Amino acid sequence: MTIARTSSIHCLSFDVEEHFQVSAFWSKARRQQWDKYESRVENNTRKLIELLAQHNTKATFFVLGWVAERCPEIVRSIAAQGHEVASHGYGHELITDQTPGMFRDDVRKAKGILEDICGKRVYGYRAPSFSITKDTKWAIPLLIEEGYLYDSSIFPVLHDRYGMPDATPTIHLLRGESGCIWEVPPSTTSILGIRLPVAGGGYFRLFPYPILRQLLKRIERAGHPLVMYLHPWELDPNQPKMQGSYLSMFRHYINLHKTEDRLRSLLEDFSFTSIREALEPVSQACARAEMEWSQAKPLALEDHIESMRLGI
Ligand SMILES: [Zn+2]
Repeated sequence: MTIARTSSIHCLSFDVEEHFQVSAFWSKARRQQWDKYESRVENNTRKLIELLAQHNTKATFFVLGWVAERCPEIVRSIAAQGHEVASHGYGHELITDQTPGMFRDDVRKAKGILEDICGKRVYGYRAPSFSITKDTKWAIPLLIEEGYLYDSSIFPVLHDRYGMPDATPTIHLLRGESGCIWEVPPSTTSILGIRLPVAGGGYFRLFPYPILRQLLKRIERAGHPLVMYLHPWELDPNQPKMQGSYLSMFRHYINLHKTEDRLRSLLEDFSFTSIREALEPVSQACARAEMEWSQAKPLALEDHIESMRLGI
């Protein structure tokens, strides 16, 4: 089951983490120093919230539990501005480096922290560096068991560090023994049979904007919602430089000074909102879950599937 639609409201998302937490610069030694680095995530996220307010746009913020613990005010501000708070896990460790037990603890801890801070249920999850791959598909049923209703971690592209090139590139429903979950893959497009990522991050800064715009318009014309992602640190060209491989440094620092203007152009050229609001079936699944919790009445799996089918 996949979603294609005629309206043109797209999904905008941000992975809220510090500039020193990106996977490309990850090392055990650096991980132990996290508390000693200068924190810039709060200012950068505030800048983002302000920019979105200027364009009257809502978005989904996948917040790292580690960040939420240290900057709870920013989580409250995100929620207070009407944005969706979702989970980026707790410790930003690649799923490929975790056991199923570690992964369950990580996503449970992050969800609990975020829900306690913002006083709202958290339904969405995005893995660090899109690290649900063919080797970590076991993560999907665990996310369902932990109460997540959608996931945005499977990037259907060929990449040296992540990706599942054969995965369905459009939004679709995944079923597990204990329920279902919507998979919301970041946007891609095919050129000469090659699937290219156009969803955000380094690609957003690398392609000339007019070309990117054209590619995104093509997806829009095909009736598919865009799923875009960025990070608060991408709007911070003055962040301290981390050392890493040439490729990682290129991807991380290329055109950081252009991100803000590009994001403004993107917000003028397309209409965005949060994942929950943009995707009717996801929105209905969340609303039904809320009703279920408020009535403390378990919802039968078949009812759950049927409700999502009706939303398409
Ligand atoms: Zn991340």
